[in-house]
Amino acid sequence: HCPVGGLRERDDTQRAFAALADPDKITVVQVAPAVRAAWGEAFGLKREEATMGRMAAALRRLGFQYVFDTNFAADLTIMEEGSEFLHRLQAGGLTRWPMFTSCCPGWVRFLKSQYPELTHQLSSAKSPQQMFGSVAKSWFAQTLGVAPEKIFCVSIMPCVAKKAESELPTMAVDGRPDVDLVLTTRELVRILRADKLDPALLPEEEPDSPLGVHTGAGVIFGATGGVMEAALRTAAYVLTGKNPDPDAFAAVRTGPGLREAAFELAGIPVRCAVVSGLGNARKLIERLKAGKVHYDFVEVMACPGGCVGGGGQPISVEDEELYGVRGQRLYDLDRAEPIRFSHENPQVQALYRDFLGAPLSQKAEELLHTDHKAWEMPGQRQ
Ligand code: SF4
Repeated sequence: HCPVGGLRERDDTQRAFAALADPDKITVVQVAPAVRAAWGEAFGLKREEATMGRMAAALRRLGFQYVFDTNFAADLTIMEEGSEFLHRLQAGGLTRWPMFTSCCPGWVRFLKSQYPELTHQLSSAKSPQQMFGSVAKSWFAQTLGVAPEKIFCVSIMPCVAKKAESELPTMAVDGRPDVDLVLTTRELVRILRADKLDPALLPEEEPDSPLGVHTGAGVIFGATGGVMEAALRTAAYVLTGKNPDPDAFAAVRTGPGLREAAFELAGIPVRCAVVSGLGNARKLIERLKAGKVHYDFVEVMACPGGCVGGGGQPISVEDEELYGVRGQRLYDLDRAEPIRFSHENPQVQALYRDFLGAPLSQKAEELLHTDHKAWEMPGQRQ
């Protein structure tokens, strides 16, 4: 918070109320994995009480017509980004520089401004937030038999940078933005309070299908190391034809802001690094540039601890850093899920079978991938 009030937090809650009151809009809401680990703090709920089921009930009471889960799109991201990684690895294109994850807009912007010459090393996969919006306005709109323009897609995110990401000209299909409105966890708390909703009194309700179905691999996206771990689970399956132990890649989980691990997938050595915090990202890139380290796949999250420590999450009165316990909550949820591999998500399988064809197909490229070079940082030409 700015001590002199010179900087103000952008508040989009009125736009949410306007959309909910518009009879011409079909309101679809997605909830990011990290939000479920933190939203209950503002209402004094224990972590086990602040469930996605209560969140679904609360969002329906607010008036959202379809309550979905960004975790569905996290599973989809793994299918696309994991396939891209294997493609790059097998094509031998990762000898000097790794593939960088692209789901954190804070990191993407940092790389483009500080090391623009490395932009092409970013995965071309859109973030789960954007993939979700793109699928909601194509496959889901088609399922409903409505024009994509009727769908108003709202995201509840732990992140303020997601607002800017959703407004990038590249995060649109045929000129239509994938996502229409992004609310932070703090804004969600504000609209629930404005409607006098007490989540503690609400029942557990299931999110809607198909975009509310997810696996444990999608849940861990909200913690540092989660994207890497989920991708390795599916990459191991693709290369060997059988599922590994879902905890086989636990070495990349929550830990110091810069950590590394090496694995062998079907005889192929894979060198990984996981980074959270942009100071650590700079250290890693300087080491890569100096030739001191070599990796194949690098996950970077701008916020310490990943999205659970995001800039849109509740701020506790004690100013305590809670990302450790929030991250642990996501790993507990992953362990409790009956399915822990993104490639086993039945609705992601249906999406490929009925609509996209296969990962990296032409349709998947059009809807789920982007060109990071197609937009410029303010005042900078690449
Ligand atoms: Fe947003 Fe932080 Fe998550 Fe990046 S790590 S997506 S900036 S909340």
